[in-house]
Amino acid sequence: MGGSMKASIRKKVLERDQYCYHCGEFNDLVIHHRRNRGMGGSKLLDRYECLLAVCPLYNGLMESDAGVAVAARGWGHKLGSWEDFDKPVFDSVKFIWYVLDSNGGKKEINVEGYI
Ligand SMILES: [Zn+2]
Repeated sequence: MGGSMKASIRKKVLERDQYCYHCGEFNDLVIHHRRNRGMGGSKLLDRYECLLAVCPLYNGLMESDAGVAVAARGWGHKLGSWEDFDKPVFDSVKFIWYVLDSNGGKKEINVEGYI
C-alpha cells in the first residue's frame, strides 16, 4: 500500500504522528488511509488529514478483524465514505483527541463523552 505516495508526504505524517495511536509502537510504522481508497482514486486520498501512521499489525487488523475495525471507526482511525476528514482521531496512548489538518499538522481538542 502507499507505493506511489510521495516521500515528502510520508515523512511529514511520520513526524506528525510519531507512534501508532493504537499501541504506541514507533518502529516500522506504515501510512494508513483513514478512508479506504477505491472511490475517487488513490491520489486524492494522499492528503494529510486522510493519513495516519500506524504499526503494521494494527494496519492489517483494521482490514481483517471486524472487532478491531469497529473500534478503529469509533476512534476515527477508519472513516466511512460518508464521514468527513475533520472527524477527530484518538491517541489511545496519551488519551488525546486530535483533528488533523491539510497542512500536516494536528490540533488537540476536547471530545465530550468519549473517554
Ligand atoms: Zn499499533
